[in-house]
Amino acid sequence: MSQQRMQGQPMIVLGEDSQRMKDQDAQSHNISAARAVAESVKSTLGPKGMDKMLVDTLGDVTVTNDGVTILTEMDIDNPTAEMIVEVAETQEDEAGDGTTTAVAIAGELLKNAEDLLDQDIHPTSIIRGFNLASEKAREEVGEVATAVDPDDEEILKSVAGTSMTGKGAEVNKEVLTDLVMRAIQRVTVEADDGSHVPDLEFLNIHKDAGRPASESELLEGGIVDKDPVHAKMPKTVEDASVLLFDTDLEVDEAEADTQLSVDDPDQLQEFIEREEQRLQEMVEDVKDAGANVVITQKGIDDMAEHYMAREGILAIRRAKKSDIEFLSEVLGTRIVSDIDSISADDVGHGSVIRNEDDERFHVEGSGHGATLLLRGSTQHVVDELERGINDALDVVASTVADGRVLAGGGAVEVELARRVRDYADSVSGREQLAVEAFADSLELVPRVLSENAGLDSIDALVDLRAAHEDGDEHAGIDVYTGDVVDTFGAGVVEPAHAKEQAVSSATEAANLVMKIDDIIAAGDLSTAGDGEEGGAPGGGMGGGMGGGMGGMGGGGMGGMM
Ligand code: ADP
Ligand code: MG
Repeated sequence: MSQQRMQGQPMIVLGEDSQRMKDQDAQSHNISAARAVAESVKSTLGPKGMDKMLVDTLGDVTVTNDGVTILTEMDIDNPTAEMIVEVAETQEDEAGDGTTTAVAIAGELLKNAEDLLDQDIHPTSIIRGFNLASEKAREEVGEVATAVDPDDEEILKSVAGTSMTGKGAEVNKEVLTDLVMRAIQRVTVEADDGSHVPDLEFLNIHKDAGRPASESELLEGGIVDKDPVHAKMPKTVEDASVLLFDTDLEVDEAEADTQLSVDDPDQLQEFIEREEQRLQEMVEDVKDAGANVVITQKGIDDMAEHYMAREGILAIRRAKKSDIEFLSEVLGTRIVSDIDSISADDVGHGSVIRNEDDERFHVEGSGHGATLLLRGSTQHVVDELERGINDALDVVASTVADGRVLAGGGAVEVELARRVRDYADSVSGREQLAVEAFADSLELVPRVLSENAGLDSIDALVDLRAAHEDGDEHAGIDVYTGDVVDTFGAGVVEPAHAKEQAVSSATEAANLVMKIDDIIAAGDLSTAGDGEEGGAPGGGMGGGMGGGMGGMGGGGMGGMM
């Protein structure tokens, strides 16, 4: 009986300390939190974007211009804000570039949605309108995109260059673009359907601080940053037969650790001899398998090192797990876990060459794999260089695979906005307003690009719109002069796939935030997800954000934004 009465009447019993916020309060609360995050990365967008310095709780410093890095390193502790961070992460995973764009568009969608909510338009209509517009925009990407031949080096170089602009990598754009191109070619493999696609799994990036970025290079195979374990071992083995291990090369611990009570010295002697014999047998096994190089992720017993040195075997220990795994691809051989099971099949053939200057080994083999050795004057420089290079590798790989590119510098966004606006006329009801708001939101990109370049963003947008009305689909902003130019012709080119992804993930996130009309927090709402700081609801999330970021650099972040 009692159960029946409850049906259709949800009953929520909240704890004493919990708080609740509904409808418009909940929406504006969430929207301001999400916008705060988007706002924080906008200043980094484009070639003239600024960098941010992030200081973590341990005092480690990251200087970057990379949207996803900023957002993931920022100590954001607010559930709504985290939804926006996820936009960046999805974008990074799916496209490898365009993270700032995706997040900035999500923020702008929410800003414009807020205006519509203020006009009493129901969130459901806005969400529906945004979905229609997003679908239309992605469809139009297909229309405005230019097909490229995967062998068209010039275009691919432009794509790489565009993604590097404004990043630390830009200073050495020529050298690095060239490296990216060669790296992509090197790791392009034939897919099952016969097409050729780059597989970045086969590329290892190795960072080395202390020398100029221009001395970065692409090496066949992999490298190991270790010394030989024994001074008497060969340092270079041209005709190498390599065994890879992920175990300790020593006598079984259980055996060695067995406590033995020694009554007479002979017994101890016998024990030691037995252990030595086991080690000798182990080295014998290695030799019998035909190996003259041993690389392990773990340790090697001193005695075993001695025996290997005597046999002329080069041994390297404590190599990084990722390096061992990569070498397994390079040599086309498995990683051995059980020493007793080794056979000649486990030996990979190639060369192991010592580079004394860099104190590392360079391993080449008959399998797959190349290493991009990134150099830079300091660790911070190399780290930021790596982020730029990673973006470039991803966009070139994506362009080769997808075969479509777009004009950058805001050109594609203005064109898409124009087409979405045209489309709005065919949409009836309140959704039409949402579709128009969506178009406006896309134009955030050229606006911010010009703002960051110190240009008048209103003038720029007016000029851009006029050019597009005249049919100039590639009209974008030249951030150096403020002129409207054919950005495609100027080599500012982006992969189409990344833009589609940015549009769809931004829309999804904005809709997700808007759909929430009820917040139930098991604690004080004004400090939800923050725990230490807060304020009035609505502004409270802003306070929460500040608190979270303050945690990283004693409040210094506020000034960096
Ligand atoms: P994201 O994280 O979104 O990739 P970026 O800081 O890399 O952000 O900026 C990308 C934007 O900068 C794109 O809209 C791109 O077209 C634009 N851009 C890149 N290079 C140029 C350039 N030389 N002139 C104008 N715009 C450029
Ligand atoms: Mg980029």
